[in-house]
Amino acid sequence: MTYCIHCGIANRKMETKLLKIISLSFLGIFIFLLEPLIVLGAVITDIRFWSAPDHTRIVLDLTEAIQYQSSSQESPPQFHLELKGVPSKTLKREMEVKDPFLSKISLTEIGKEKVKLTLHQKKHLNANVFALKAYQDKPHRLVIDLVDVVQEKKEREDRQKQKEIKSQGTKIVVVDPGHGGEDPGAVGQKKTMEKDIVLKVGEKVAHLLNQNKEIQAFLTRKGDYFIPLEERIKIAREYGADLFVSLHTDGSFNPQARGSSVYCLSLSGATDEAAKILADKENMSNILGGAFLRPTAFAKDPNVNQILLDLMQNNSMKESFRFAETILEDIKAVNPVKYRSYRQANFIVLKAPDIPSVLVEMSYITNKEDERLLNSNDFQEKIAKTLNTSIKKYFRP
Ligand SMILES: [Zn+2]
Repeated sequence: MTYCIHCGIANRKMETKLLKIISLSFLGIFIFLLEPLIVLGAVITDIRFWSAPDHTRIVLDLTEAIQYQSSSQESPPQFHLELKGVPSKTLKREMEVKDPFLSKISLTEIGKEKVKLTLHQKKHLNANVFALKAYQDKPHRLVIDLVDVVQEKKEREDRQKQKEIKSQGTKIVVVDPGHGGEDPGAVGQKKTMEKDIVLKVGEKVAHLLNQNKEIQAFLTRKGDYFIPLEERIKIAREYGADLFVSLHTDGSFNPQARGSSVYCLSLSGATDEAAKILADKENMSNILGGAFLRPTAFAKDPNVNQILLDLMQNNSMKESFRFAETILEDIKAVNPVKYRSYRQANFIVLKAPDIPSVLVEMSYITNKEDERLLNSNDFQEKIAKTLNTSIKKYFRP
C-alpha cells in the first residue's frame, strides 16, 4: 500500500553541505556550483495511497510547499499533476499499484524543475486536489482524492436503504473505528497503530452485535482510509443510527499511564483539562488525516428540521450519559478504569444532535503491557464482548 520514491534527499544534504564549505572558502567556485543550488527545490520524499470503497487517496510528502497544476484526460483515463520547483534530476519512475481504481502511478521529468505525476485510472473518476501545510511531525503534503461518484452515491443510497428497510423494534448501531489512512492515531512503543487496533475491535463489536436479532450494526470505515469526523456523523445519520460508538486507544508521554475511559459530548466546555486535551487531540484527526469535505458532507437534509434536532440534542446527551455509565460499569471487569465516571468535552465526532454518541478509549497504546494486550486477539475479544453487553443493556434497561 505504501511505497517511497526517494528523490535524492541524501544528495541534497550533501550538496548543501558542500556548497556551504566551498562558498565560505572560494567565492569563485560558488558561482560554478550555483547550478546545484538552483535545482534544490521541493523534494518528493514519499508517495502513499489509501483505498476506500468509493475513492482512492494519493498523498505526496514534500520538503516544502509546492506549486501545482492539475488536469485530466478521458482516454485512457488519467489524472495529471504538474509540479513546479521539483529538481529536474528526478528520474522517471513507475509503480504498479493494487487498487480498485488505480493501476499505476508514474512520475516523469517534463522540464527544468518540473515533473508530472500521472495517475493511471481504471475508469473515469472525479479528482479533488488540496495541499496540507506541515503540521507536527507531518511534512507538507499534497492530497489527491480520486472519487468514483457513482459508487459514492451507491454507498450513500445503500446506507439510507438500511434505515428504510429495518423492521420495527430493530436498533441500529454505528461503530466508528477512529482515525485511519494518513492519521494513525496514537502509536505504541512497538509501533502498533491505534487505527489498526480500533478497526479490529470495531469489526468484532459489529460482528457480535449482528448476532442479536434486534440489533443491526454497521461500521463507519471498513478499511485503512480516513473519513473526516463530520462525515462519520453523516454516515451514522444515513444509517438512521440509534446509537454511535467511536472507538479509540489512548496515548500519553507518560509510559506508565493505563486504563479505560469513556467520553461524552459537552456543549459548555470540558469537565476537566485532561478531557479538553484529549478532545483537542482527537479533533486533530481532521488535520492529520486530511479532511476534504466533499459537497455532500455539507448538504443539509431537507427532511430534517433543525429546530427539532436542537431539541433532540438534550435527550441524546442524557442517553449518552446513561450508555457511558453502563460501559464503565461493564468494562472494569476486563480492564481498570481511569476515572469512575464518564468525562465530557467538545469532541467533533460526538456532535450528532439526534444520536446518543459515546467515545471509548479502550486502553493506553503507549503503555508497554497495554500495547501487548491491545495486540492480542483475546483482549480485543474481551473488549468487544463487553461493548456488545453494554449496548444490549442500553437498549433494554
Ligand atoms: Zn483516537
